[in-house]
Amino acid sequence: MYKTIEDEVLKKAAPAELKAEFLQHEFERLHKFCLLIYVASSVIWIVYDLILSFIGGQPFTWRSLVFFAVFAIIIIILTFTRQVRHFDWLNLLFVATITYGSRLLTEGLPVTHQPAWLLLAASTTLFSASVLPLSRWSYFAAQAITWTLLNPFYGTGIVLHEFKGIMAVSYTVFLGALTIYSFLTLNKVKLYNFIMSRLLLDQAYIDTLTAIPNRRSFMTRADLQMNKVPREQGHYLAMVDIDNFKKVNDVYGHDIGDEVLARVAANIKSVMADFDYARLGGEEFAIYLAGVSHETMAALATELCRVVREQTTRHPVTISIGLAQVLEGETLNQALKKADEALYESKHTGKDRYTFHQ
Ligand code: GH3
Ligand code: MG
Ligand code: MG
Repeated sequence: MYKTIEDEVLKKAAPAELKAEFLQHEFERLHKFCLLIYVASSVIWIVYDLILSFIGGQPFTWRSLVFFAVFAIIIIILTFTRQVRHFDWLNLLFVATITYGSRLLTEGLPVTHQPAWLLLAASTTLFSASVLPLSRWSYFAAQAITWTLLNPFYGTGIVLHEFKGIMAVSYTVFLGALTIYSFLTLNKVKLYNFIMSRLLLDQAYIDTLTAIPNRRSFMTRADLQMNKVPREQGHYLAMVDIDNFKKVNDVYGHDIGDEVLARVAANIKSVMADFDYARLGGEEFAIYLAGVSHETMAALATELCRVVREQTTRHPVTISIGLAQVLEGETLNQALKKADEALYESKHTGKDRYTFHQ
C-alpha cells in the first residue's frame, strides 16, 4: 500500500519553488560538510605544493602564497554564506582556483607524468562537487571549468590517437559520465525523500478539513512559546467552540457543517494571524497568545466574536470563547483545563461571548 501511495506522489513533477526550497534545505544541513570539503581540498593542494617545493625541487614562490590566501578567503566567505544561490557562485570560484592551482602544480612534474596527475586532480574535484548541494547549472559549469583547466591534452604533448591519448580520452569520458550521473541520481533521490517527508509532516501537523494546524502541532508550538517568552509578558490560552453546531449539521447537513468549520477556521486565522492557533478536534479550536496584555486579549476576543457573527453567509454561526491566563509554573494542560472552564461559563451565560477564567 505504501509503495502505491509513494509512487502516486512521486509521479507528479515537483514545482520549481519546492525544488528551490529543497536545495536551500540541503545547503543548510550540509553547510559544515561543504566547509569540510573545502578545507580538505585546500589542505591537499597545499601539501602537494609543499612536497613539490621542498622535495620535488620546485621553487616556493609568491604564487603559492596567493593560492593560500584565496583558499582562506573562500573558506571564510563560505562560513558566512547562508543562501544556496550564493554557494552556486562561490563553488565555481573555488573550483576555478583549485583546478588552476592543480594545473600549475602538475606543470612542475616531468611531462610524461602530467596527464595522469591532471586526470587525478579532475576526478577528485568532480567527485567532491557531485556530493555538494548545487544547482544543476552550477554543477555543469563546474564540470566545464574542470575540464578546461585540467584538460590532459593541453600542454602535455600527448596525441589523441596514440596509446596515451586513447587512455586519457576513455578515462575522461568515463569520469565525466559517472560524476554527472552520480550528481543527478543523488539529487533525484534526495529530492524525492524531501518531498515525501514534507508531505508526511503536512499530514501529521495540518488539519485536512480546515487546513490550519492540528492539536499535535498546537501542543508543540504552544509549549515552545511557553518556554521562550517570559510569563510576566502575558500569556493567554483561548478555547473557541462553535455555538449550536449540532443544529447546523442537523438542519443543513454535514457538508454545510464542514463548510462552516472551514470558514470559522479562516476567521480565526485572519484575526489571530500573529499567534499559534489550531483545530483541536470537532468544532473546537485553541489559540495560544504569548506577550499580550489583558486588554489586548479582550480586544482580540471581541474582534473574533464579531468577525464570525458578522460574516456574510447563508449559514451564520456564533462562537463562544474561554480565556485563561497562563501563570508562572502552570502547564499547558492546566491552562487548557482553565480555558475549558471559562468556555463552559460563556456557554451558560448566553453564548456568542468570551469569559476570562476567574
Ligand atoms: P454548544 O453551543 O453547546 O457548543 O452546542 P453544540 O451543538 O455546538 O455542541 P456539541 O458538542 O453537542 O456538538 C458538536 C457537534 O459537532 C457534534 C458533531 O456531530 C459535530 N462535529 C464534530 N466534528 C465535525 C466535523 O468534522 N464535521 C461536521 N460537519 N460536524 C462535526
Ligand atoms: Mg459547540
Ligand atoms: Mg463542542
